[in-house]
Order: sequence, then structure tokens, then C-alpha cells
Amino acid sequence: MIKIDHLVKNYGTNCAVDDVSFEIAPGEIVGFLGPNGAGKSTTMNILAGYLSSTAGRVMVDGLNVLDEPLEVKRRIGYLPEQPPLYLDMTVEEYLIFVYNLKGCTMNRTKHLEEICDVVKIKDVYKRVIRNLSKGYRQRVGIAQALIGNPPVIIFDEPTVGLDPKQIIEIRNLIRTLGKDHTVILSTHILQEVQAVCDRIIIINKGKVVADELTENINRVADGNRRYRVKICGPQREVMSMLNDRSDISYVEALPARDGEAYTYLVESAPNIDMRKSLFYTLAQKGWPMVGMEALGMSLEDIFISIVDKTGEGERVRKPGKARRGRSATDAEKDLAQAIIDSTAEAQKNIAPYEGED
Ligand code: ADP
Ligand code: MG
Repeated sequence: MIKIDHLVKNYGTNCAVDDVSFEIAPGEIVGFLGPNGAGKSTTMNILAGYLSSTAGRVMVDGLNVLDEPLEVKRRIGYLPEQPPLYLDMTVEEYLIFVYNLKGCTMNRTKHLEEICDVVKIKDVYKRVIRNLSKGYRQRVGIAQALIGNPPVIIFDEPTVGLDPKQIIEIRNLIRTLGKDHTVILSTHILQEVQAVCDRIIIINKGKVVADELTENINRVADGNRRYRVKICGPQREVMSMLNDRSDISYVEALPARDGEAYTYLVESAPNIDMRKSLFYTLAQKGWPMVGMEALGMSLEDIFISIVDKTGEGERVRKPGKARRGRSATDAEKDLAQAIIDSTAEAQKNIAPYEGED
């Protein structure tokens, strides 16, 4: 459906998009993940035909964006980072305006009604956009993108500035749209792509650094089970017993105490479920286990394992106590940290719940 070949965009001497290539099949929901300034918006603007490229080729549905800009725009619904809303119009006036602008020829009333149903804005249809909450404005922006039934929809950071309830609603809406559209969404939040997308393309400093199916990432996350375990027993002896086990690849004593119990972070070896066996060993030793909580993988671990696989050659975990088959390079660590920081920053910036929608 979409084919980007060696795309380059320079702003003066600043290279915002540096030789980016990827393909997206019809019906995929693809997440474009990268820290701020990575080049996501620039790539999306070029794809949507709002910005010219310096070099490279962009094809949508077999059409070249440069040769047939109008035909390409007809196939793409775009929600830019700043939704192009006219605040003085009512929702109805605005959607009719966009409908006419796009030169649509279907039954207008029916088409707009269907869209308002999907994005759930019927109850604010007659209201002036200026008076709507950010969540509702974002949905009007999505409605605008859906007018004309384009097969491809592009969302640039669709949940920025929304409160947690609105974020969940918009993510659900995007997933619903993904059932019968090709969707590309950009975000600097790792959990957002994991929650919504089939596939994740990570972009950093204008380059694609990873391109991976989300299910593979989740498998990696699953295959490295981490637990927080509470055990009553002498800490040093317990640590030494845990360390000696072949079904445990990593152990750390955590500072938290719960009555007599010490807490440990325990990671089981790949593809081994050590829980029952650990339970029996502890019972035999007379060191009761009073808690076990699955932690999944840390964001950083998941991230590094994605980036790890994109380098040259196959990388496998070393046997024994090594946590990773290869330690990440400094550049990868920097990128992981940048994404983790921007995710944390985004979490701080989530708007307080507005209560309106
Ligand atoms: P992202 O959307 O991933 O945050 P952008 O595509 O907006 O990243 O920006 C990529 C790089 O291009 C950044 O370094 C940014 O400062 C630069 N850039 C973006 N737009 C312009 C512009 N209009 N003029 C000059 N530089 C720009
Ligand atoms: Mg952007």
C-alpha cells in the first residue's frame, strides 16, 4: 500500500530524514516510534503530500506522491500533530467544509453521520469547536481525516495532551479503524505502539533503526520472565541457592522487606518455568515463599532486545548468568534512554482528567 524508498529530507544543513525505506501492506497498523526530533512528523508530512522531499520516492497505492499528488491525497486521511480545526465553526459546519474541500460525491448527510458514529461526536455535533475539550477536538480531527473514506489513515501523535481516559478511548478508536484501514501512527511512547500497532518502526535521528512485529516484541517480553519473590529465610543463603540454580539466569536482592521476608528480583532462564520447582526447593529448605509477582520485562530490556536484533548477525543469549547475549552499544543505550525519557516525560504531561468526555 505504501512504499518509501531512500527518502531524504534536508532543512538547510540539518538532515531530518536520512535515507529512510520501508513498506506497509494494506490493513497493517504500523507505529512510528522515536524520540522528539527523530523525523516522524517530517516523514508523515511527506507521505501525506504536505511537504516536498529532498530525494527518494514515495508511492501510495502504486501512485507516486510527486506525480499524482491529488490522487494520493484522496487515498490518505491525515491527522497532523496540530489538528487543522477552525475553532469558530461548529463541528457540523467544519465537517461539511472539509467534505466540500475534499470534493466528495457520496451522500453527505449519511457519510458524516456514519463518521460521527464511529468517532462518537454526535452529542457535540452542533457545538462550536472552541468550546470542546481536547479529547473531543481530537476526535473531530479524526473525523476530518475519515471524510471521503480514504483507505490509509495517518495519525501524528494522536494522544498528546489527552487525559488517561481519553487516551484509552482514542487508542481503542484507532484499533477499530485498523480493522478496515491501513493505519500509520507516530508516537514517542513505547506503550502506545505496543497497545495499538501490529508492527513497530523505530526511527532515530532521521534513520530507521528497527522494524519489528509487535508480537515478536511481546514474545521476547514473555520469554524472559521476571518475578519479584518474597522469601522468609537467611538472605545470604537464599541468594546463594538462587544463584546456583540453572533455571534462573539473574538474581538481585532488593531492599524491600516484608516482615521476616526478604525480596528478590529473579529472572528465569529462557523458555523455562522455574516457579514450581523453586517452590518445592524453598519448602524443603524450610524457607517459605510468601509472595511471587510477575514483572514482565523492563521497558529498557524490551527496547534493547528490539534494537539488538536489527544489528548485523544473529545474537543469542550467552548461557550462564549473562543477562544479554550482547551488551547494547552506546548509541543504542542512548536511544533507549531517549525513548524511555520521552515516555516518562509524556506520562508527566498527560492532562488531568477533564471529566467532560
Ligand atoms: P519528530 O516529529 O520525530 O519530533 P520532526 O520531523 O518534527 O521530528 O523533526 C525532525 C528534525 O527536523 C528536527 O531536528 C527538527 O528540528 C527539524 N525540523 C522540523 N521541521 C523543520 C523546519 N520546518 N525547518 C527546519 N528544521 C525543521
Ligand atoms: Mg512530530
